[in-house]
Amino acid sequence: MQFDDDRNIANLPDISEIFHLLPPYQNKSLPNKATFPEQKDIEHNLTIERVRQPCSNCESYCCNTLYFEMEPPHHISNLDYFRFCTGYPNVFVTLHEEQWYVTIKSTCKNYDPSSEFRCKVFGKDERPIHCSMYDEMKCEYIKRFVSSATSPNVVLQNKHIATLEKMCIYDSLGNITYLPDAYSLQSLSQQNEYS
Ligand code: SF4
Ligand code: SF4
Repeated sequence: MQFDDDRNIANLPDISEIFHLLPPYQNKSLPNKATFPEQKDIEHNLTIERVRQPCSNCESYCCNTLYFEMEPPHHISNLDYFRFCTGYPNVFVTLHEEQWYVTIKSTCKNYDPSSEFRCKVFGKDERPIHCSMYDEMKCEYIKRFVSSATSPNVVLQNKHIATLEKMCIYDSLGNITYLPDAYSLQSLSQQNEYS
């Protein structure tokens, strides 16, 4: 199989291509009582390392990033709000695939990269259900915070908001009639991601 940058399957081989790789069919009788492998065995059956362990080389965005979805700015006052938010330390405006976010780089107090699973409360009641139930196979953080050739990730600091204001076009009431897209804004943040 081939996967794209978001781990979607980009190329699924035809069954005829993989038929010869399958073990020969054996007509075994079924057990009286159905048995199922444990969950961990199901995981171990996945053979594509990058897919099976999507967190293995990740910087743990899920434990070091808070983000809040925002409407695209449509009025100059929305840009002023971005200026206000990014005046705080470690707060950025980010843009990915036309979705805007206020993003806060902060580290969960339970994060410990030296501990197993990088989480000091892994398997304990204190661990938020949000974390326990998170499907890392479909990680939204990777989609939103890791740039790819087809999906630039824009990170705007406080100083970039003034540039963004100049790039926009407004009507007489301050409504934004032209808003640059992610590709237009990408050059602003290339050298300064989360710094
Ligand atoms: S869940 Fe996503 S962001 Fe968190 S460590 Fe895994 S791949 Fe990285
Ligand atoms: S509780 Fe654990 S998994 Fe959840 S954000 Fe904190 S360190 Fe990460």
